[in-house]
Amino acid sequence: MLTFEKLYSMGHEEVVFFADPSCNLKAIIAIHNTTLGPALGGTRMWPYASIDDAIEDALRLSRGMTYKNSISGLHLGGGKAVIIGDPTKDKSEALFRSYGRFVESLNGRYITAEDVNTNVEDMEYIFAETGNVTGVAEIHGGSGNPSPWTARGVFRGMEASCVKVFGDKSLKGKVVAIQGAGSVGTHLGKWLFDAGAKVFVNDISEANIKRFLESVPNAEVLKGDEIYDVKADIYAPCALGATINDQTIEKLKVKIVCGAANNQLKENRHGDILKERGILYAPDYLINAGGVMNVSIEFEGWSAEKSTKMVDKIFDTTLKIFKTSDEQNIPVYRATDLLAEQRIESIRKLKGTYLGNHAHRFPGRKSRG
Ligand code: NAD
Repeated sequence: MLTFEKLYSMGHEEVVFFADPSCNLKAIIAIHNTTLGPALGGTRMWPYASIDDAIEDALRLSRGMTYKNSISGLHLGGGKAVIIGDPTKDKSEALFRSYGRFVESLNGRYITAEDVNTNVEDMEYIFAETGNVTGVAEIHGGSGNPSPWTARGVFRGMEASCVKVFGDKSLKGKVVAIQGAGSVGTHLGKWLFDAGAKVFVNDISEANIKRFLESVPNAEVLKGDEIYDVKADIYAPCALGATINDQTIEKLKVKIVCGAANNQLKENRHGDILKERGILYAPDYLINAGGVMNVSIEFEGWSAEKSTKMVDKIFDTTLKIFKTSDEQNIPVYRATDLLAEQRIESIRKLKGTYLGNHAHRFPGRKSRG
């Protein structure tokens, strides 16, 4: 159940429920923190078993966006939305346009984008009703598919990880085990192939493996859990979250964990265990931020050049996080949270300074002199 105590403890500012029975819209928008700017985060469509599950997802995901947008240096806060429904049956133009009108009613405090089960076409319907949407079609000034940008950022994170572990950013001759031959996994595979790495891959979809092998012809395919056992330099989770857990962590024979999946650590203590075992963990929500960085540029006019510059900064930020982790002798996940929190706190403080220009509050007030 949603309570104010829960919002206080997680730090949320606002949670809004929107309902429109005319098109069966049931949506929840959670705005976590707007210190850095309007809350940006995607809209997920999912047939949640209960309203509590939907609320929980919106709260958890929106908080994650605050951290991701902060560590990525974006002038954006964190938010996320969920639409309760079956994406195979319940999508319609009316539903997304109705949702877009509700997003508009938040006056720019929340900006949406694609997430699980929503796509460019859905964003286009939202765009018919509000400008507070990103990830729209390129012909309308959008930035297109985020996955290649996410993969680019993961590759930069891998380079930074190699600097830390091997003293050199080159991936040439490195062995990388990619779990998930989906959109990001395949683009990442191509980066690694071009860099001269040896790639292992694993996926539950034969069709996706086939597509992957067209981009990475010399990749070796692994079955099921072999991905955790293989002797490699890097394990790249690009399918599911929580794959660093009690069952897998003992098996891993890698020096680095670096991939696109969200929430790779099942629990924070698994990040502590990685540190104890001398396995470097690249901060997941930073290195997979290429997609959100890319959409954020739509507001100033998107170009591939701007996106490239922004996403490539992931290399430096990853190294900065490793340095903080070493200096403070804390695990990487904690160092990442710390830097994200410090940035928000420092900006919150500077906003305490009054900037003048109060005429809009007291129109007509004249000086006494
Ligand atoms: P995707 O759906 O295109 O690919 C996921 C792949 O994982 C699919 O090929 C699927 O068959 C495979 N898979 C599912 N279960 C598996 C299992 N048990 N073992 C092996 N493979 C399995 O998704 P994507 O867009 O490539 O995203 C990959 C991951 O990165 C996801 O966790 C996503 O949340 C995260 N991510 C993606 C982006 C982006 O821009 N697409 C941005 C940030 C984070």
